[in-house]
Amino acid sequence: MKCRHCGTLLTHTFLDLGFAPPSNAYLTEADLTTPEKYYPLKIKVCDECWLVQTEDYAQANELFNSDYAYFSSTSTSWFAHAKRFALNITEELSLGPESFVIEVASNDGYLLKNFVAAGIPCLGIEPTASTAQAAEKLGIPVLREFFGENLGTKLAAEGKQADLITGNNVYAHVPDINDFTKGLKAALKPSGTITLEFPHLLRLIEQNQFDTVYHEHFSYLSLYTVSRVFGSAGLRIWHVEELPTHGGSLRIYGCHVDDARVTQASVFALMQEEVSRGLQQLKTYLGFQPKADKIKDDLLTFLIDQKRAGKKVVAYGAAAKGNTLLNYGGVKPDLLAFVCDAAAAKQEKYMPGSHLPILAPSAIKQNKPDFIVILPWNIADEVTSQNSFAREWGGKFVTAVPKLTIL
Ligand SMILES: [Zn+2]
Repeated sequence: MKCRHCGTLLTHTFLDLGFAPPSNAYLTEADLTTPEKYYPLKIKVCDECWLVQTEDYAQANELFNSDYAYFSSTSTSWFAHAKRFALNITEELSLGPESFVIEVASNDGYLLKNFVAAGIPCLGIEPTASTAQAAEKLGIPVLREFFGENLGTKLAAEGKQADLITGNNVYAHVPDINDFTKGLKAALKPSGTITLEFPHLLRLIEQNQFDTVYHEHFSYLSLYTVSRVFGSAGLRIWHVEELPTHGGSLRIYGCHVDDARVTQASVFALMQEEVSRGLQQLKTYLGFQPKADKIKDDLLTFLIDQKRAGKKVVAYGAAAKGNTLLNYGGVKPDLLAFVCDAAAAKQEKYMPGSHLPILAPSAIKQNKPDFIVILPWNIADEVTSQNSFAREWGGKFVTAVPKLTIL
C-alpha cells in the first residue's frame, strides 16, 4: 500500500488491533441472529510525510451505509463549544449578511444554526440523510453530498465560494485527504478562511488514545503533515490553536497560499514542538503498540477482578472509541452488563462486536451499579456530574485512558 498523501510505499505498522466490526454499526435485536462482519484494523505510518493512516482493505465502502446514529447536538459540551466558535469567528472575520459560510459535514446543524440566528447565509454539506433532515428543520440549507474536488469546483462555478469554510471532525474521516483539500481550495473565496478541527496525533500518542482508532477514521494528523497536504493543494496554514476537545485537538486556520495574511508564530511554535516530541522519528511510532496493549490488559484485569468480587459494572457512552476498546479487549456482557447513552437513536440497540445492550441513562438509577466505566473519557466531567447521584449508593466512575483510573 502507498501513502494516501505522498505515494511513498508504506512499510511500517503503527498499530494493529486485529479485526473489528465498523464502530458505528450498531445492531438491532434481529441483527444478533445473523453473522457480523469484521474488517482488519491496522494503522500504518508513512516515513516520508508522517501521515498515520488506516491500511486499505477490501469493501471499505461498505462502511458508509446511511444509518448513521451520531447526532452532534446530543453532547451538551460539544454544543457549547460550537456556539462559542461561531460567535468568535463571526467577530474575527467580520462576517455579516453579505458573507457566505460553508460547513462540511454539517451533521444535524449544531454549528450552522448559530450562523442562521445571526443572519449570515450558510450552506451545510452532509451526505447522511437522517442528520441532514434534522438540520433542514432548523432552516439550514443542506447539500446531501460527499465533499471533494468535484463538489468544490461545482460550488465555485455556481458562484458559491465561501468567506469561511469550516469542518469539525471531518478531516480525519475523509478517505482521500488530497481530493478533499483540493475541494477546499476550489470552494474558497480569494481572501477566504478555512478552519478545520481534528484530533492531534501528538495527544493520541502521548495520552495513549489508541481507542480513537477505528475504520472510519482514516488519518491521524500532525500539524506538519497537514501543512504539507495544504501546501500541495495551493493552501497555507496561517494560524493554529490547541483545543481540549476530543482529548486534544488542533484548530487550523488556512488560506490561499498567496493570501496577504502572514503565517503567525503559533504555527512555527507547534511545528517545533512536534519535532521535539519525536513526531518525525520512526521510533516514536513503533513504540505505540505496547502502550495500547497495557490499557487493554489493565481494563480486562479490572473487569475480571470486579466480576470475581461479585460487583456490578456497567458502561456509559456508546461511542465509537468505546467499541474499539471493548472489541480489542474481547469484552462481552458478562464483564459489562450494559451501556447507557443519552442519544435516543442508539437506545434499544447493541454495540457492534461486544453486543452490550444500549439503554437510556435512567438504567443507572434502576440498577445501582458499583462501577460505571465511562467509555468516551473526553466527556468524563460531563458524565460524572450528570450522574453524580450514583455516589449516593457508593457507585464509582472509571476511565481506562490514558490509564485505568477510578474517579
Ligand atoms: Zn506520505
